Amino acid sequence: MDDEEFFEGTGGDQAVDLDVLFSSINYKDGLALLGRPGVVRDWPLIPGIDLVGRVSASGSDRFSEGQLVLLNGDGIGESRHGGLSTRARVRPDALIPLPESLSPQRAAAVGTAGFTAMLAVLALSDAGVTPESGEVIVTGAAGGVGSLAISLLAGRGFEVVASSGRVSEQGDYLRGLGASRVVDRSELSSAGKPLQSQVWAGAVDSVGSHTLANIVAQTRYGGTVVACGLAQGPDLPTSVMPFILRSVTLTGANSVEAPRALRERAWAALADELDTAALDSLTETIGFGSVLEVAERILEGGVRGRTVVDPA
Ligand code: NDP
Repeated sequence: MDDEEFFEGTGGDQAVDLDVLFSSINYKDGLALLGRPGVVRDWPLIPGIDLVGRVSASGSDRFSEGQLVLLNGDGIGESRHGGLSTRARVRPDALIPLPESLSPQRAAAVGTAGFTAMLAVLALSDAGVTPESGEVIVTGAAGGVGSLAISLLAGRGFEVVASSGRVSEQGDYLRGLGASRVVDRSELSSAGKPLQSQVWAGAVDSVGSHTLANIVAQTRYGGTVVACGLAQGPDLPTSVMPFILRSVTLTGANSVEAPRALRERAWAALADELDTAALDSLTETIGFGSVLEVAERILEGGVRGRTVVDPA
């Protein structure tokens, strides 16, 4: 493979070269690292859907040498080389200057998971869901997206209910992030009726399948549910009833394809609102040597919060 082929998709003469300072492990990285289908589209490929780095050379007039930047998604770790590396060449399209108030390590701790959580929070807010609307539920609560969503929503004054399969093990952790109560995910994970008692003003769901269907069925008139993930499954066994009888809105968050203006809005909000003490408490930092072990654990649902990778 020649250089041109290796660097395909990295922006041509607009490409930005980076020294990678930190990456992270997301659920998708777990799939890619263990060779599971559905994430990596082109082999060979450097995995890692997140990176934070320092510009070493830039063909783009938006970036200059020495600048600190971050990148989430935009195909890295899937169809373009990703962040689990010491150096990277990326296209500038979705590259964002590192917000001044965030260290490179904390920005990697936020990563795709926190970025997606903020996209979901913004979607709820844009849909008119406010703390006065009522309780908001977060599923996959002890995972990366879930943990950050709880912290961000609680920071905005929401009553947050955490749904987790690890209530006894992680209940205190979830309440520490700001959850007002914690429910066992088994209450939501089996087939249920399409309309149930109205409980939620909003939801951030990392789980999909019956869990998402039950949440939609329990969402109050005019409420909004943001689908972010598929940890239980990609299916959605629901009916039109919650939509035509309760005006429920089901929307989504997509961290990979998010346009730059939305990325900038989400990162500005993260820089403003993040509880850095909470972020530090939910972050573990590892070296390259532990990446495969964490990949296995994240696919088993055994990782709590976020895992940063320090390539140094
Ligand atoms: P994590 O593995 O960190 O978290 C997922 C959590 O889901 C687990 O910690 C667990 O939480 C729960 N969970 C795991 N398996 C099941 C199951 N079988 N049934 C119900 N709940 C389960 O992953 P991330 O937070 O990084 O990602 C979460 C999901 O969101 C993934 O599907 C991922 O692909 C998707 N995602 C989507 C993005 C987008 O752009 N839309 C971006 C980032 C992620 P607990 O133990 O508390 O129950």
